[in-house]
Amino acid sequence: MGLLSEGSPLSWEKTKELAEHVRKHGITQFINLYHRLKDRQGDILKWGDEVEYIIVKFDHDKRTARASLRAKDILNTLNEREAANPDTVKALWRPEYGSYMVEGTPGKPYGGLISHFNIVEANMKFRREEVEQLLEPGETIMSLTSFPRLGCKDFTFPLSTPDPQSGASRSLFIPDEVIYTGHPRFRTLTRNIRCRRGEKVAINLPVFKDKNTPSPYIEDLKALGDRGESQSAALPDHVYMDAMAFGMGCCCLQLTFQACNIKEARILYDQLTPLCPILLALTAASPVHRGMLTNVDCRWAVISGSVDCRTREERGLEPLKHNKFVIPKSRYDSIDSYLSEQGEKYNDVPLIYDPAIYQQLRDADIDHLLAQHVAHLFIRDTVSLFSEKVNQNDDVDTDHFENIQSTNWQTMRFKPPPPNSTIGWRVEFRPCEVQLTDFENAAIVCFVVLLTRVILSYQLNFIIPISKVDENMSRAQKNNALNEEVFHFRKDITTQETPPQPKAQCQSAKCGSNCAPVYTAMSIDQIVNGKKGEFPGLIPLIESYLSGMDVDADTHCTIQQYLKLIQRRASGELLTTAAWIRNFVTTHPDYKQDSVVSESINYDLLRKAADIQSGKTPCPELLGHSVVSKTQESIPSAVEKIYPCL
Ligand code: GLU
Ligand code: MG
Repeated sequence: MGLLSEGSPLSWEKTKELAEHVRKHGITQFINLYHRLKDRQGDILKWGDEVEYIIVKFDHDKRTARASLRAKDILNTLNEREAANPDTVKALWRPEYGSYMVEGTPGKPYGGLISHFNIVEANMKFRREEVEQLLEPGETIMSLTSFPRLGCKDFTFPLSTPDPQSGASRSLFIPDEVIYTGHPRFRTLTRNIRCRRGEKVAINLPVFKDKNTPSPYIEDLKALGDRGESQSAALPDHVYMDAMAFGMGCCCLQLTFQACNIKEARILYDQLTPLCPILLALTAASPVHRGMLTNVDCRWAVISGSVDCRTREERGLEPLKHNKFVIPKSRYDSIDSYLSEQGEKYNDVPLIYDPAIYQQLRDADIDHLLAQHVAHLFIRDTVSLFSEKVNQNDDVDTDHFENIQSTNWQTMRFKPPPPNSTIGWRVEFRPCEVQLTDFENAAIVCFVVLLTRVILSYQLNFIIPISKVDENMSRAQKNNALNEEVFHFRKDITTQETPPQPKAQCQSAKCGSNCAPVYTAMSIDQIVNGKKGEFPGLIPLIESYLSGMDVDADTHCTIQQYLKLIQRRASGELLTTAAWIRNFVTTHPDYKQDSVVSESINYDLLRKAADIQSGKTPCPELLGHSVVSKTQESIPSAVEKIYPCL
């Protein structure tokens, strides 16, 4: 989830006092690192996935499934192994926000060989098995985007109780034990985000209104210990959540790419941005929150609200008095500006930043696009500061820069090389929800990596106005968006240059920016599989790219299975994970058509999901008839490169 500094966290008051200090030195550190590294060339493609998991504890006699708070024990063992053999471990394990979560990555990044696609799934399988060996009876490691009954009574194992008066989040639903205890970062962030905001976070997701769902749907929060704050924050007909854990306690699938130089990283950052909402809709996997079916399919708005540290002034609810800016978004959200030349004219959302910081960056010879990007990240205050890290040498250290950078949790992240390392400029792709099986996760990973190769080789251009990407993000999260929504998507992706047209010529009634309507409305099916005579489709583009390559038979077969899955998901022939979960809940014999996902439904749902994960139970509606593919554990000797360097 970000930088894990060693040391002792400062109080919120002290952290707040040092906000300007962190900002000032963070900017200086960025300027210094930029000049050290801007000309770095010739890094090769390296990439890797990150999968976040939940440890679930089943009690088969009582028919319960709970979030098992044992991540710390499990991670201790895994991290000891890594420390003993740092160069040979096949997986790296890191803590995540929840005490029931672990995050795993391959031991080493993948590279530019096409045959690497044939080892992704095997490595994911290895990771799962590695954790499984450390589990106690009844426990299962699950790649589940949201734990359906997070925040319901008795949802943890061992049992724990919320402390609304003095817990880190003051939540009515989330006990402090749920926040990872092995590192102070997570509790500190929780407390500081709440303190900065001036009140608890408030997340309201529209409830899925079924036949017997009370209407209006209003909960009695006083009965849970509320003294009024929650009651006034909770909206009728919504599922209300009041803690960081509801969002940061969700799991995702992320990808990081190393580019050959800063220019290529900026291009990838921009080109992948319009694909974020598309991949979010395609991977939608979290329709249940706090034990209720909601009317959204994704985690995005939940996390966004869960770390929304903006004050009332910053949210535009009160006139600015103590704060500098009204800020339209949380620090977890979709990006606000493009970074490459092609993107520049599509930056149609006014970007908030401190002009003095922007000028400081410009004076240090940093171009407009990068300067405004960094200045925009730095509108945020630090929400976690460790005493040992306050005073730094800005010529070599980058912690203050990383402090702000790593707490801007956005759809894409533009990552400078870390100090003193062999790592180059990178971009992180962060929207995807995690899927139940390694097969699905590997399919998504390979699809996205192949897309980056297609984008660079064919010099494709997916850029649309950033305001349209924002609109797509909110559409992508809706219940059944995959089948019911259309998305703004660029019409002609083969040209880098689109002549700018004046506003008057814009044909889209809704287009408020001065861009030409370079985009049109398309369904996920059309975007992924193509629209006859109008748009080639992402999969056909990948197929055409692959047809020019010499791919070994085994890898070819694996890639084909992956593309097939994506194709069939996109066409609606197969269900999204979210749709599958919805179906399971609403057809369960115990379901009372009241939106409630009871303990018994939760138990059966997670058992079934665990059996699908392990391959014990086939699930053709989700996976088709493809079986878990037999990918390999080591890299075969094929040498086909997939690395077109600009
Ligand atoms: N768990 C978060 C999510 O689902 C991401 C945390 C991270 O940045 O690693 O998006
Ligand atoms: Mg993570």
